[in-house]
Amino acid sequence: MNISQETFDENYHQEHWTLTAPLFGRQNQLKVLGFNGRFQKEKLYFVKCAICSCDPDLYGDGIFTSTKANLVAGKEPCGCSPSPKRTEKQLSIILDRILSLKGYRFTGFNGDYKKKSTRCGVYCETHGQNYNNTASMIISLGTACKFCGYESSKGPRVADSEVINSFLRSGSFPIDTVFTRSVEDTSG
Ligand SMILES: [Zn+2]
Ligand SMILES: [Zn+2]
Repeated sequence: MNISQETFDENYHQEHWTLTAPLFGRQNQLKVLGFNGRFQKEKLYFVKCAICSCDPDLYGDGIFTSTKANLVAGKEPCGCSPSPKRTEKQLSIILDRILSLKGYRFTGFNGDYKKKSTRCGVYCETHGQNYNNTASMIISLGTACKFCGYESSKGPRVADSEVINSFLRSGSFPIDTVFTRSVEDTSG
C-alpha cells in the first residue's frame, strides 16, 4: 500500500471497533479513525499517525489506510515503517533535506524514476560541482562530490590561512602541519 494522503471525513461510517479509537504502531502512534471501505474482502481503516502528522510537507494531515490484520501484525502504513514506500515527491523532499544539511543541493531526478535506484542530480555548494548518485546511496551513506571526498579522505585540515596566521603569530608551524600540501595542491 502506498503512503498516500487520504481524506478523512469525520461523518464517515464508524464501527464499534473504530469508536474505541484503538492504537497501533511501535509507539502507539497510529490511531484508528474510521472505516474506509473494502479492498476485495478486506476491510480498510483510516488511521492517523501522531508522528507523521507533525511533518505536513511530507505526509499532509498524516492520515493513512490500513487493514486490521496489518495493524495487529505491527505493520505501519506510514513514514514510520522501516521500509516506507514513498512517492516520487516524498523521496525528492527527503533527498533535498538530507543534501541541504550537508551543503549540497538536490537538483532533481535523472532519467526514469526507479524508486531508490533513481539517479539524482546533486550540486556541491562548496566546490560548484554537479554530479549524480543513486537515491539509496544518498540516504544510506550520505554523499560527497569528488572534491569533498578527497578532502574528507585526508581528514580534517587546518585551513591554509590558519596555518599562515599561526606561523606569523608564533614564528613556527603547528606540529601537525603537512609540508607536502603545496605539492599535492599543484598536482591535483
Ligand atoms: Zn508514522
Ligand atoms: Zn564538494
